[in-house]
Amino acid sequence: MTVTGSSAGVGAGAGPDPEDGTTRDNRLTLPRATHLLSFFRARAETMVTWRERDRVPEGDTVWLAGRRMHQALAGRTLTRTDFRVPQLATVDLTGQPVVEVLSRGKHLLTRIGADWSLHTHFRMDGSWHLYRRGDRWRGGPKWQVRVVLETREWQAVGYRLPVVELLARDREVDAVGHLGPDLLGSDWDPVEARRRLLADPGRELGQALLDQRNLAGIGNLYKAEVCFLTGLTPWTPVGDLPDVAEVVDRSKRLLEANRDDPAQVTTGDRRRGRQHWVFERSGKPCLRCGTRVASAEQGDPPYQRLTYWCPRCQKGPAPQPTHSG
Ligand SMILES: [Zn+2]
Repeated sequence: MTVTGSSAGVGAGAGPDPEDGTTRDNRLTLPRATHLLSFFRARAETMVTWRERDRVPEGDTVWLAGRRMHQALAGRTLTRTDFRVPQLATVDLTGQPVVEVLSRGKHLLTRIGADWSLHTHFRMDGSWHLYRRGDRWRGGPKWQVRVVLETREWQAVGYRLPVVELLARDREVDAVGHLGPDLLGSDWDPVEARRRLLADPGRELGQALLDQRNLAGIGNLYKAEVCFLTGLTPWTPVGDLPDVAEVVDRSKRLLEANRDDPAQVTTGDRRRGRQHWVFERSGKPCLRCGTRVASAEQGDPPYQRLTYWCPRCQKGPAPQPTHSG
């Protein structure tokens, strides 16, 4: 199994996350403009479906990763741990049980024993893979492995994770306390999500949706698709939204519809090239009106992301398209 992040640093944190709003002190990050390959693969007998993904993780991806990790590891005793990040190099949690694995937005928390929580975040290029004991590891070269958690049956291998930190259980809030309501969380709070989205009325809708402090779980794909489905450009100030509840509800519905399915289909059409309304369809005809889908960077350097929209279906401000195919 797999999910993803920009990895310039390893260990306890790596740079402000453009989608997270965090500026945790000892991080340094080189955000990537390109979408890197990530692989969501495992074999049927390892209870994970074989998929390939070619984009950064969104909340649904991390939710699914968390669930699969939980199914494999929870209630099992760790027979070996191997932390390959300098600040955790001497840590050994062998003999401790994995209590639970859960996602919060795009963060993953692996609760170990009575006292510890392993916090990982994937950013652009990180991933967790699950292997049966004895299976060949396929997540990348060995030097990219940051952490290994092993039970009698499973090996969970974390590749290229830019954030690997061990927290005291009661300090989880340090890692995820800043997050807004989790779109896939059991404590989802739409009223609070709406309040946070509207707190800065001049903010562009696309930027506000990506900010995990507003609502947790949306990445670049769902941002573009939610804006399309709402009929507004990503540059529309949130204060101009005719119905913020609709935006929040659509976001939740899209993530929920995809959380069990790595394919991330937003159109209901699983055919190649038709799975998304506008995301990564620059220059192609809009699936609704036929107009060529436009794209341009949104956000301030170095955190700008390529954003997609249909100039006809979506009303509101927009820059000159910078990419057309
Ligand atoms: Zn259109």
